[in-house]
Amino acid sequence: MANRISPIENDPFSLVADAFGELWPNTPFPRVEFVEGLHIDDDAPWAETHIPDDDFPDIRISIDVEATVRGAVELLAHELAHVAMYHLGLDHEENHGPFWQEFFEAINQAYKAKAEGGNGTN
Ligand SMILES: [Zn+2]
Repeated sequence: MANRISPIENDPFSLVADAFGELWPNTPFPRVEFVEGLHIDDDAPWAETHIPDDDFPDIRISIDVEATVRGAVELLAHELAHVAMYHLGLDHEENHGPFWQEFFEAINQAYKAKAEGGNGTN
């Protein structure tokens, strides 16, 4: 799943996806969708990971369309850390504990290396 083709130059979402693919090459990249009406108030999440169940057999991530691009990139990395935990059989509901922190940091570092390393615009 590395090196996705995007119609957008320096597409940060593709870079995050590439980072995820390099960190966990055996973990399928989940379905990701932008949705309306997720962050309906201050207590509602900006994004969420849906664990497979009978209704939706695929793991998927929803991100509210009202998020900024920068915010949505971080949200994607955040949710992908949960996805990696799920696929590795770690307790993905152990919200934001040591494993999650480590995974989130790994995605961010790999993403930043890609963002700074190539396709610079200046
Ligand atoms: Zn989370």
